[in-house]
Amino acid sequence: MKYDVAVKNVYLPNGDNKTVANIGINGNKIVYIGKEEISGTEEINGKDMLAVPGWVNTHTHLAMTLFRSYADDMELMPWLQEKIWPIEAKMQREHFKWGSYLGVVEMIKNGTTCFNDMYFVMEETAKAVDEGGLRAVLSRCVMGDDPKDDYRMKESLDFYKEWNDKANGRIKVAYGPHAPYTCTDRYLKKVVEYAKQDNVLLHIHLAETAKEVEDCAARSGKSPIALMESLGLFELPTVAAHCVYVDKNDRQILAKNNVAVAHNPQSNLKLASGIAPVTDLLDDNVLVTVGTDGCSSNNNLDMLEEVRLACYLAKGTSHNPTAIPAQQALEIGTYNGAKALQFDKLGKLEEGYIADIVLYNMSESYWYPRHNFVSNLIYAASSNDVDTVIVDGKVLMKKREILTLDEEKIKFETNKIALELTK
Ligand SMILES: [Zn+2]
Repeated sequence: MKYDVAVKNVYLPNGDNKTVANIGINGNKIVYIGKEEISGTEEINGKDMLAVPGWVNTHTHLAMTLFRSYADDMELMPWLQEKIWPIEAKMQREHFKWGSYLGVVEMIKNGTTCFNDMYFVMEETAKAVDEGGLRAVLSRCVMGDDPKDDYRMKESLDFYKEWNDKANGRIKVAYGPHAPYTCTDRYLKKVVEYAKQDNVLLHIHLAETAKEVEDCAARSGKSPIALMESLGLFELPTVAAHCVYVDKNDRQILAKNNVAVAHNPQSNLKLASGIAPVTDLLDDNVLVTVGTDGCSSNNNLDMLEEVRLACYLAKGTSHNPTAIPAQQALEIGTYNGAKALQFDKLGKLEEGYIADIVLYNMSESYWYPRHNFVSNLIYAASSNDVDTVIVDGKVLMKKREILTLDEEKIKFETNKIALELTK
């Protein structure tokens, strides 16, 4: 059979370490996986490569790549108040544009095919996603007190009209109330109303620090999770970033309402916020996904690194080495993310699923011996092994060369503009 794209002779993450398979793609779908000989209008030689679903990063602030290595080793509030917010206030459209491009380049190179972003001037991020070829859920970050005539929410609604379900469905728009400590209750209620009207996903930071939870309890008598439930947030599909401080009652609320948690272990550790109780969340049937957060609280967007850390922390904090085995780690970083972001038929290598596929080159020494490819991947591999990236059936990178964007120009321009901004 001849397909639009034929990926030939790859290994699959299915426990079979001996047999190679061929993947046939038509349009944006995987239509064949098996051992039959196939050909394609475009053919990819997958010899000695492992095919996996692309990573889904469920919490980012993409243009914050501009702040990489700018303000490290600080506490959350001084970091935001003294370093990040003053610079953000000076940022122009160009900054969001180049910061987004740099983030898209980094994601393609580390095998991330889909992400959930909340930031500002989102049209620039949408353009970079569209041009780079990735899949994303994008929200204009909103915050404040009185929702009446709020320019942020207005931008958010306009952005929804312009970009929702664009780029062949690769771009979806969500609403992104920043956090309970930056939005008043009446503001959040209004965002929920808008979200119901447009039937969109919500993306919010919740229970990130102990102080946030204490302050919320002092103000409302409730935990951030319980407060959000009472305001109606969870009546919509919601991605809650962090959830570091969640008790049994909070976890039950999250599970009952199908709220997805975006676990960002590097960010939580770097800002010394704490460690999310991931094994408790899993035990209570909460949908756990993995995110990297912005490039400053976490200095890279490397999903393999993030998933590996999530896995190790789960084992270490629960004193249970069977917590999050390798296969589950792969699912948490791929399928769970796709589910949290409400994409149908995404995050698995199966016929009928959307063709978002990453090929890892297995030539490095740590891919040997080969008892189990998924173990090799989760515990030993490097994101530099990502050779080929396919999103929506289109090849975005081949032999580590990005085909959709000019990587060198993006690195040069972003560095220039970022250094000028922070001068
Ligand atoms: Zn964040």
